[in-house]
Amino acid sequence: MKQFVFATNNPHKLQEVRDITEGRFDILGLKEIGCFEEIPETACTIEGNALLKAQYVKEHYGYDCFADDTGLEIDALNGEPGVYSARYAGPDCIAENNMQKVLDKLSGTDNRKARFKTAVALIYAGETRIFEGVVNGRITDKKHGECGFGYDPIFLPDGYTQTFAEMDEKEKNKISHRGIAVQKLIQFLLHQ
Ligand code: IMP
Repeated sequence: MKQFVFATNNPHKLQEVRDITEGRFDILGLKEIGCFEEIPETACTIEGNALLKAQYVKEHYGYDCFADDTGLEIDALNGEPGVYSARYAGPDCIAENNMQKVLDKLSGTDNRKARFKTAVALIYAGETRIFEGVVNGRITDKKHGECGFGYDPIFLPDGYTQTFAEMDEKEKNKISHRGIAVQKLIQFLLHQ
């Protein structure tokens, strides 16, 4: 079975990707290869950050690797928080602070259109590839649901009546930005 490192310390993401790939690959997280350092995410695009993370693992640990980076783009905020989604409310902020900042900034705004974009960078057999996934939706007026992570409680995907945080993991994975990007990655790998 092909083995890859998924360059993340986020247990939710690791579980999501293991669920999506349905045991077709052996996927290790950063902790499992003894990588505990902070990998720099200094690029100004999500594609650039995904690539930086994958290259870091390849260079320092030698594994075939993929990494993802995600941004939430909100139309009424000119695409913010975008590539800065993780630290939107400050360097030490948690998801609650980020969501509150979004809700405060959108207070009284009718245009709630937003999208999640994920870039997955793969380094495999000496080649580098990028796979993208996008899901369009709206920012709700308040938080709904307890599942998932990050901005899930305030993101309502188009065509659905539940936020990502109200869906079970399977449902979210079927339509999510990361689900779409990882499906493209799987299709690519299955044809190698
Ligand atoms: P990163 O991909 O880990 O850099 O994520 C950037 C920011 O987007 C972080 O604040 C994450 O919590 C958030 N984020 C990433 N993926 C998701 C998701 O699937 N749902 C909600 N928030 C997410």
